Amino acid sequence: MGMKRGLVIAIDGPAGAGKSTVAKILAEKLGLRYLDTGAMYRAIALKAARTGLGPTDGEAAAELAARSRIEFGAGSPPSIWLDGEDITAAIRTPEIGELASALSAFSPVRAVLASQQKEMVAAGGMTLEGRDVTTVIAPDAELRVFLTASLEERAKRRYQELQAKGVDISYEELIRQISERDHRDYTREDSPLKIGSGVQVVESYGLTPEEVADRILALIPLES
Ligand code: C5P
Repeated sequence: MGMKRGLVIAIDGPAGAGKSTVAKILAEKLGLRYLDTGAMYRAIALKAARTGLGPTDGEAAAELAARSRIEFGAGSPPSIWLDGEDITAAIRTPEIGELASALSAFSPVRAVLASQQKEMVAAGGMTLEGRDVTTVIAPDAELRVFLTASLEERAKRRYQELQAKGVDISYEELIRQISERDHRDYTREDSPLKIGSGVQVVESYGLTPEEVADRILALIPLES
């Protein structure tokens, strides 16, 4: 019999639902580690782009992934490192997001990252977020949440984030990109984004990230 592992909170949801912000707040409040699984898909996309691979090169990207070292640094939020290089800022561009979305549809890519993610979750004491963490990566988490918001709400949020960073993109273009991203995430064959059985749905409409985090805190089962 092993020791009881620390609390695990898994959060899934579509692009722009506010998963990262909320997961970071929860990790800080509860003293848990934070795992952004999307950042790992972005890291592989960045390496793929630098190697000249495109959105249909899933097999080659999986080989790259298997030969890559992705690490998270200390700090809150944690920095992300690829083969010893700090890529925290480099992965946050719309182009890398697009390529990550395309490559994440390939099973061999998912297999490499999923096995690394499951290993990181095994010790417990973690809040993790992505598109498959409640169903595939941490199906036995003490709390599993699906965070939702309307397409318009999510596009509006992304628009404000990107404006603040000085990225020039129109609201209409974001609506187009996010719908396309949704379609890919919900319809891919391997580990599609879905509300798994026993997963609690939290609607973030009209709530601040702090309020969403409080709703999720209230859902933590008492015995954990
Ligand atoms: O969440 P983020 O936008 O950083 O993720 C980048 C892309 O990686 C997403 O569009 C999604 O298609 C993919 N992804 C995934 N499974 C995860 C996390 C992200 O397929 N667990």
